[in-house]
Amino acid sequence: MSDSCCGTTASLELEQIATSGATSALPVVVIGAGPVGLAAAAHLAERGQDFLVLEVGEQVAASVAQWGHVRVFSPWKFNMDAAAKRLLEADGWSEPDPEWLPTGAELISDYLAPLAKLFGDKVRLSTKVTAISRLGYDRVRTNGREDVPFLIRLEGGEELRARAIVDASGTYTSPNVLGASGLPAYGENTVDVDHALPDVLGADREAYEGKHTLVVGAGHSAATTLLALAQLEDAQITWAIRAGGAERTYGGGAADALPARGALGTRLRAHVESGRIQLLTGFFAHSVTRSGDQVTVVSRDPSGAEQSVTVDRIVAATGYRPDHSIAAELRLDLDPILGSTRRLAPLIDPNQHSCGTVPAHGVDELSHPEPGYYAVGVKSYGRAPTFLMATGYEQVRSVVAAVAGDWEAARDVQLDLPETGVCSSSLAAAQEQRVGLATGISGGLLATPLPLATVGATTDGGGCCG
Ligand SMILES: Cc1cc2nc3c(=O)[nH]c(=O)nc-3n(C[C@H](O)[C@H](O)[C@H](O)COP(=O)(O)OP(=O)(O)OC[C@H]3O[C@@H](n4cnc5c(N)ncnc54)[C@H](O)[C@@H]3O)c2cc1C
Repeated sequence: MSDSCCGTTASLELEQIATSGATSALPVVVIGAGPVGLAAAAHLAERGQDFLVLEVGEQVAASVAQWGHVRVFSPWKFNMDAAAKRLLEADGWSEPDPEWLPTGAELISDYLAPLAKLFGDKVRLSTKVTAISRLGYDRVRTNGREDVPFLIRLEGGEELRARAIVDASGTYTSPNVLGASGLPAYGENTVDVDHALPDVLGADREAYEGKHTLVVGAGHSAATTLLALAQLEDAQITWAIRAGGAERTYGGGAADALPARGALGTRLRAHVESGRIQLLTGFFAHSVTRSGDQVTVVSRDPSGAEQSVTVDRIVAATGYRPDHSIAAELRLDLDPILGSTRRLAPLIDPNQHSCGTVPAHGVDELSHPEPGYYAVGVKSYGRAPTFLMATGYEQVRSVVAAVAGDWEAARDVQLDLPETGVCSSSLAAAQEQRVGLATGISGGLLATPLPLATVGATTDGGGCCG
């Protein structure tokens, strides 16, 4: 099996692996035990496919745990995978109230942790995947490629083999930078920058009380953090956005099609107008320098005009980007804008879609030129902020069906998401009445991400998902 003119001949052992069918006896490896990785595991379990879930965190859904204090905006009924529910129900689990909006912590305690428990040692915690390739094949080598196993390298040096990879490693650990042009601001890596959604009124309160905090970003994560900071009496707050005004974040106030968005926007606007929050517009973070215990952030706008602010803490609520570096030796076909697959990009484009209007999609849209490797879940969306767990669950149902050879089921993609009702403010409003406003970090809607989705409207680079 010589595949080049330069003497690279596959070893006898590789040929034997490729032709013996040994690959098909290997497990499917799922990277990440978040909501979508665990849903993939549920579908693999239902189909009797051998699998292993690798999770870097010491607990399942380690990324969700980071924002455990935040109440989501889609109710339980959209946050659970059908196969996962079937397995849990068979184990005697009681389903949470389908209309309730859980916090991240409740997602874990009431659903994801019990689900992972069903899989026993098939979920390996504290296990970081550092790289994926194909056994004996770098990215260039073609002949026989699809017949050899995947090679998964773990931190610590262990290597595993797999017949397929479902990469559900998310984007939460690769936030966007503070720098306005997508490049890190000078000095950004030399100071502490807090990433979106710190638990300002809970575990992180001490870090923000009595301090001056700069929040950078115009999305609902920024809005949520600003409103929480505004509840700390002695906190000084500055909010920096690139735009010339904060209208997009404020929404339509009382006239907003989405009352919860309008209400949050109205509160934010009131804080800005009263001077409680100092708003810096046209702010293009360019450099960050330490000055004693404080940091100075300098903005340089495209015309070269500068402004600066000196603060104690910085919260970068600037969104997330996918990190495809672990798959650098695989053949990926990435959309040049979003970093999703090219086929998926037009379906999730935030200029055209909100989370509730993304159409059903599955294995065909998620396939890369590398057979058997699928990035799923929020990672599959790249930089598009339109992801919902419900779409991720349909992705893994389809991908697992394909991995199991059931192409009919794999291609029968369906998504039952009403355009309103999944990111809907009416649910949030109803829950607001049940739990009350500002009743605590995980109680009131001040902890709720601002839902930007609305029927027939584009999100202008915004989105719905934190
Ligand atoms: C604040 C917030 C609110 C949201 N609200 C909603 C909502 O209301 N409704 C909704 O549908 N969606 C919501 N989302 C969007 C989305 O559904 C969630 O982000 C969801 O957690 C994505 O699931 P996932 O499994 O794809 O990724 P994640 O939950 O990010 O899970 C990825 C997992 O992979 C692990 N991992 C990462 N790298 C590695 C590695 N190298 N090796 C091993 N393991 C690794 C991580 O530790 C993590 O556990 C929200 C997101 C945020 C941030």
